[in-house]
Amino acid sequence: MSVEKFAFIGLGRMGYPMAGHLRTAGHQVTVFDIFEETVDRWVAEHGGQAASSPREAAAGASIVFTSLPADAHLRTAAYGDDGIFAGLETGAVWVDHTTASVVVSRELAEAATNQGAGFLDAPVSGGVQGAVNGGLTIMVGGADESVTRALPFIELYASLATHLGPSGAGQLTKMANQICVVGLCQALAEGLDFAESAGLDVAQVISVMLKGSSTSWQMENRAETMLAGEYDFGFATPLMQKDIALCMEAAREMAVPLPITSMVGQFLADVERMGGQGWDWSSLMERQRSHRSG
Ligand code: NAD
Repeated sequence: MSVEKFAFIGLGRMGYPMAGHLRTAGHQVTVFDIFEETVDRWVAEHGGQAASSPREAAAGASIVFTSLPADAHLRTAAYGDDGIFAGLETGAVWVDHTTASVVVSRELAEAATNQGAGFLDAPVSGGVQGAVNGGLTIMVGGADESVTRALPFIELYASLATHLGPSGAGQLTKMANQICVVGLCQALAEGLDFAESAGLDVAQVISVMLKGSSTSWQMENRAETMLAGEYDFGFATPLMQKDIALCMEAAREMAVPLPITSMVGQFLADVERMGGQGWDWSSLMERQRSHRSG
């Protein structure tokens, strides 16, 4: 694989290790984040280049990667004199790993096409652990030629990267994923609370359930921390609320009912009121447990 010049914008819980994998594979990586100290820390650790704006990062890059919180941050990074489009090269591909709306994905894809560049919506699943281990599942939407160009590099931090259709197909698949997982985490909180309230040895209960029909990624990776009341990591509750809002909006347009997804969204608002803004969203467990203190 020849050495390429990449840009990576958004060095958060996910982006920081993902950009690191591109560097470890020997590519030139220029990074930008609104938090300068994060950029400095990344460059000190990985030895890439720091940019002072999205435009400067994108200039000269064959592929621009983004991993930002949501639609608004994407548009801020995209447009204006210092935005990505001001630096995006003809023939380059922008790979966006943000979990965002279909509307913004298609808007950015159209703007990139008008500039002679490509755009892929490529949201991820697998958590911070997946980003650190290079084992993410990545759902890709966009044109064939952009996928062919970018996939070998996306695979540097993915165990599975799948092209699911045209622009927006990656985001719609991620929404299906989130719809499937939200009720599951709430059910896990209820099951653990039930077992604990019954005076069972919950660690033993979990080890049995992991071999039974209720086993899941959530149970394997989150049951222990939920039990311990540890949430200072992972996927913050406001980000999951944002994902649920995206699902609700897309479902409304198709008249698809999502009663459980909607309810868990309300539960997460309760968690935030309890002080859980920065907690991993498995803190649904704290809301569930609160009946015991009340
Ligand atoms: P995060 O909040 O930790 O990171 C986002 C980064 O973007 C921050 O470093 C922030 O400073 C930076 N940023 C914000 N606006 C910017 C701008 N205009 N220009 C440049 N940088 C800007 O979020 P995260 O947990 O890394 O998640 C990133 C995306 O991945 C989100 O869309 C999230 O829904 C999705 N995701 C997260 C997880 C997870 O477990 N954390 C899992 C799957 C998907």
